[in-house]
Amino acid sequence: MNDAASRPSAPPAAEWHALPHEEVAGRLGVTSAGLTPEEAQARLKAHGPNALPEPPGRPPLRRFLAQFNNALIYFLLAGAAAALALGHYVDAGVIVAVVLVNALVGFIQEGKAEQALRAIRNMISPHAHVVRASRRQSVQARDLVPGDLVLLEAGDRVPADTRLIRARGMRVDEAILTGESVAALKNEAAAPVEAALGDRHSMAFSGTTVAAGQGAGIVVSTGPHTEIGRIGRLIAEVEPLATPLLRQVDVFARRFTTVALVSAAALFLFAVAVRGYGWSEALIAVVALAVGAVPEGLPAVITITLAIGVRRMARQHAVIRQLPAVETLGATSVICSDKTGTLTRNEMTACRLVIAQDDLAEIAVSGIGYDPAGALGWTGAGGQGDPATAAAGLLRAGLLCNDAHLHAENGVWRAEGDPMEGALVTLAVKAGRDAAVERAAWVRLDEIPFDAAYRFMASLHRSPEGEAVLFVKGAPEEVLRLAGTPGGGAWEAAIARAAAAGERVLGFAMKRLPVAPARLSFEDVREGFSFLGLIGFIDPPRPEAVTAIAECRSAGIGVKMITGDHAATAGAIARQLGLAETPVVATGAEVDAVSDDDLVALAARTDVFARTSPENKLRIVRALQSTGAVVAMTGDGVNDAPSLRQADVGIAMGGKGTEAAKQAADVVLLDDNFATIVAAVKEGRTVYDNIRKMIAWTLPTNGGEVLAVIGAILSGVAMPMSAAQILWINLATSATLGLALAFEPTEPGIMARPPRPAKAGLMSRFMLWRVVLVSVLFTLVSFAVFFQSLWRGQEVEMARTLVVNTLVVMEIFYLFNVRFLHMRSLSWRGALGTPAVLLALAAVVAGQFAFTYLPVMQAIFDTRPVALLDGVMIIAIGVALMVVLEGEKLLLRRLGLFAAGEM
Ligand code: ADP
Ligand code: MG
Repeated sequence: MNDAASRPSAPPAAEWHALPHEEVAGRLGVTSAGLTPEEAQARLKAHGPNALPEPPGRPPLRRFLAQFNNALIYFLLAGAAAALALGHYVDAGVIVAVVLVNALVGFIQEGKAEQALRAIRNMISPHAHVVRASRRQSVQARDLVPGDLVLLEAGDRVPADTRLIRARGMRVDEAILTGESVAALKNEAAAPVEAALGDRHSMAFSGTTVAAGQGAGIVVSTGPHTEIGRIGRLIAEVEPLATPLLRQVDVFARRFTTVALVSAAALFLFAVAVRGYGWSEALIAVVALAVGAVPEGLPAVITITLAIGVRRMARQHAVIRQLPAVETLGATSVICSDKTGTLTRNEMTACRLVIAQDDLAEIAVSGIGYDPAGALGWTGAGGQGDPATAAAGLLRAGLLCNDAHLHAENGVWRAEGDPMEGALVTLAVKAGRDAAVERAAWVRLDEIPFDAAYRFMASLHRSPEGEAVLFVKGAPEEVLRLAGTPGGGAWEAAIARAAAAGERVLGFAMKRLPVAPARLSFEDVREGFSFLGLIGFIDPPRPEAVTAIAECRSAGIGVKMITGDHAATAGAIARQLGLAETPVVATGAEVDAVSDDDLVALAARTDVFARTSPENKLRIVRALQSTGAVVAMTGDGVNDAPSLRQADVGIAMGGKGTEAAKQAADVVLLDDNFATIVAAVKEGRTVYDNIRKMIAWTLPTNGGEVLAVIGAILSGVAMPMSAAQILWINLATSATLGLALAFEPTEPGIMARPPRPAKAGLMSRFMLWRVVLVSVLFTLVSFAVFFQSLWRGQEVEMARTLVVNTLVVMEIFYLFNVRFLHMRSLSWRGALGTPAVLLALAAVVAGQFAFTYLPVMQAIFDTRPVALLDGVMIIAIGVALMVVLEGEKLLLRRLGLFAAGEM
């Protein structure tokens, strides 16, 4: 254990809010430099990680039993009970075995899927910004200790209970703690000792979200000692594995079961009354029908397919937070994307300065990235003197109205903080200034942080001469307005020039104040500024975004850029990205001016929305959705949360995104990259395809079996298969071949198809036709084999063995046909299959040999050894089926009976 002296002396947790923050700092032994890494390490040992105990998961037994809670399984168990009552112990045993195996497979796979989901979610574990040893850094929230100096800004989740030492317009949403839905305003003054939790304005509590402003504070308690830890109420992170598709399958299963029950009853009556079957004989025939009808393996296999999709997406840096997003991604018809950082690299370089001399003069900056190697030089004839001296005021504003820091790691220069602000530091160094010296000489007194809602940042400084000076930087038209729009249109022309080249433009201004206000307010940033100049930044498009956008166009997916940036800049970047030949640009002001009804048409025809606000985003999503579009929307700020929730797929940025945006999103991009969204859409389409393939493959088996039993009863002939054999077919094929379909890779040309209609059912007309056709073929072939065998004088057990083997072989060949719903399967790619398919094939063949030749199996299933020639005949039947079905695929395509989207 640690000795008592080095441990901070903690007052009862209830009192931190009532102490002056200086005293809190003293008691917790922390200075403005933050803790040293060694001290933080020692405290972490003493206090334990800043994490709450994991909520207990569902106990395994409950999860196992839940596998039986399914209409299909009830139906099977009823069949088992009936078989048992009739003394058909083998049938009853086989049914129970199938149910158990099925439940076990489901149990294991579901557990694996849940685990994988959790592991993938851990990839986006929360981080906190702290100051340690005088350096701002990002650490895992679980490594925070009492005494840590944390920085908080809008969108952050407060990582631990924190006594604020500074708060600027800081509002915190404390609903999870207090139930209060209005965000609470915070400040650093001590609160009364008796203040209730919701009134402790000097505290930010773990688990709450910063809704606006920024601040800093000292961590006073972590993990289970925080208020939320003591309440023990946790936001449950593990949702049940339910998606619209699984629910659809469930509904289908229920309906199906009802139909099967009714027809089974009718058939039973028919068998007894018309055909003169005995009670028990009729009942066992109906049990065979029932077990044949139930596609019991389907739900488990679909869950597995979804889980595989989640894993494949994670490998491509898209983390699924909500399982239904896997399906919705596949149906996405419009992607609304941020520009900066998503479509562009977010690696800013200041490349152009515009200042006022006699006229406006332009300075070009050389060098790339954050490496401060480069120089300033006049462009054109306008400039006089040394450019760095001429632009001194502009450069200083860029350095002071700025929170970024540069540092070199193994010779690579990086910016900590906003990339544009990092580029301003690099620019100042290129101009021969020492950032640290200048920032120390001009002490910062207060600031108004940048917010996308008002698009500027202001900072108040004391000059070395003791004057109070206010700097602003921001969207140039805003800053020009603060300076009373000087220059008679010359500045606007300069802005337009830079923006047309795709540059991001910032304007800068300053004003001297007679006295420094204690607190900077929006009143101070209203008018009376003198304009200092413009700086243009290049932020190159991501090359992979260009490819991804082209792919979207071929896949019938609309791409819309929604940005806070200038219309001309955004339009130029859109052109470079190939978003459209001539991108249609609309501004947030235009969106504000139209009614919701008119916005529908505006949103549909616009490619680029510039100078938008988060409220615009929400309206744009709604307008697009009203036309039936399935909309994916990206976002990073706290104000984006509503539009992320409204979108069909909300996508948050893992890198630059706030915790609030991630919480609201369905998907988090680890690499903030537009191309990753498109990759995820592709995986989503693959998952959906594979599920449809699975259904298209499974149902004819059941259909064939049902029709065979019904046919036998109606015509009064012997059953071509026993109930136990039917179950064998289902089990042997679904756990192997069916599962293999879950691993199917993306079909070529998947992004050359239009998106599937959102309302489209699981079964297209084509698939329905397919299921009926193949069911009938299966039945006809089964009867043919059965009677041909009897006709040759073989006993009925032999004939049944042949039928079962034929059905399984047909299933195998049909699988190869189904693997490509949209193209020819008779190709090398089709014939070779995937490792999963080949493995499944080997398993089925081995199982079939055991079923036919193993004495134990012969005893259980009443089978007989098949002769070689009969075996050859069975394979030939499979090949013939394949040829017929491929011919049908070709014919239908030739005839154009089904639209591409319907296949
Ligand atoms: P984007 O959609 O490109 O991410 P933002 O909403 O981040 O746009 O920014 C909108 C505008 O606000 C920018 O074009 C720029 O003029 C201004 N701006 C962005 N970041 C800052 C900042 N850190 N300080 C001042 N102004 C900024
Ligand atoms: Mg931005």
